Amino acid sequence: MSADETPQGYSIFRDTMADMTFPEIARAAERRAVVLWGLGVIEQHGPHLPLGTDVYMPSELLRRVRRLLAERGIDSVIMPPFYWGVNQVSGAFPGTFVVRPEIVIELIVDLIKSLKKDSFARLFCISGHGDALHNRTVHAGIARGADEAAIAAYFVGAPSFFARVGIAADDPHILPTHSEVERPSRYFDVHAGKFETSSMWAAYPGLVRDELLPALRSTDFGVEDISEWRKGGDHARAKTPQGYLGDPAASDREFGETMMAQHAELVAAAIAAQVGAAR
Ligand SMILES: [Zn+2]
Repeated sequence: MSADETPQGYSIFRDTMADMTFPEIARAAERRAVVLWGLGVIEQHGPHLPLGTDVYMPSELLRRVRRLLAERGIDSVIMPPFYWGVNQVSGAFPGTFVVRPEIVIELIVDLIKSLKKDSFARLFCISGHGDALHNRTVHAGIARGADEAAIAAYFVGAPSFFARVGIAADDPHILPTHSEVERPSRYFDVHAGKFETSSMWAAYPGLVRDELLPALRSTDFGVEDISEWRKGGDHARAKTPQGYLGDPAASDREFGETMMAQHAELVAAAIAAQVGAAR
C-alpha cells in the first residue's frame, strides 16, 4: 500500500516520534534505539511535483529503512523531518522558502541536544535535497551537534554525493553507503526530473500531477548548462523556467519503486554495519 492510500494519509509525521507518546520515547531510548532523521527543504519542484518533495522522499525512505533495520534486530525511531533549509539554487521561484545557513546550523544543534537529553546515543541523518550549500550546512550542524551533545551522529549518503557537495571522504561525521543506486541518463536529471518524479509517483501517487507529465520536455542539459543553473537565483530561473532539470515525462512508477527499495537497502546496510561495529 502506498503512503497516501493508508487511512492515516500521507502525514510527514507518520511513523515518527511526533506520533509517539513520551513514555514510548523513554522506553525506546532505554532499548537503545537508534534515531533516523530525514532533512529536506520546501522548494519548487516544477509544475508537477509538490514543494515538499524533498521532505516526503526521505520520510518514505526512512520508513523502509526502519523496517529493514528491524529485520536485522536493530531498533530505531524516526525523528520528525527537518524541512526548513538553504535553497541557494531555486530561491528565486515562488514557493521556495529560504533560510540562512547559520540559522539552520543552530536549529540542528539544538535538536540534537534534545535527543541527548532524552538519552538517545546514535543518530543517522539523510538528505532529501541536492543543493551543495544546504548539504554542507546540514553537515556542519550534525558535526557541531555531535560534538556539543557528545552523541554519535552521522550524515549517511553515497560517496559521489559527498564528493559533489565538497565533504571529505574521511570526515568522522559521515557514513558513506558502500555503493549507490544506478541512475543512467544521457543528460543531467537532478531536479524533479525522471528519477525524482518516478520515486514520488511510486510513494505518493496522489501528490504527482501526472496528467502534466507528457507535455514536459526534457531539458537536455550538459555540463555547461548545469554549472550555469547551479549559480542559482535568477540564473536558475532563466535556465529552467519550468523549474525542473531533467526528463519528467520519462518517469515510471515501477522504476521509482525499484530505486526506492534499492536506496533503502543501501542505507539500512550502512547503518547496520556501523551499529554492529560499535556494539
Ligand atoms: Zn527534490
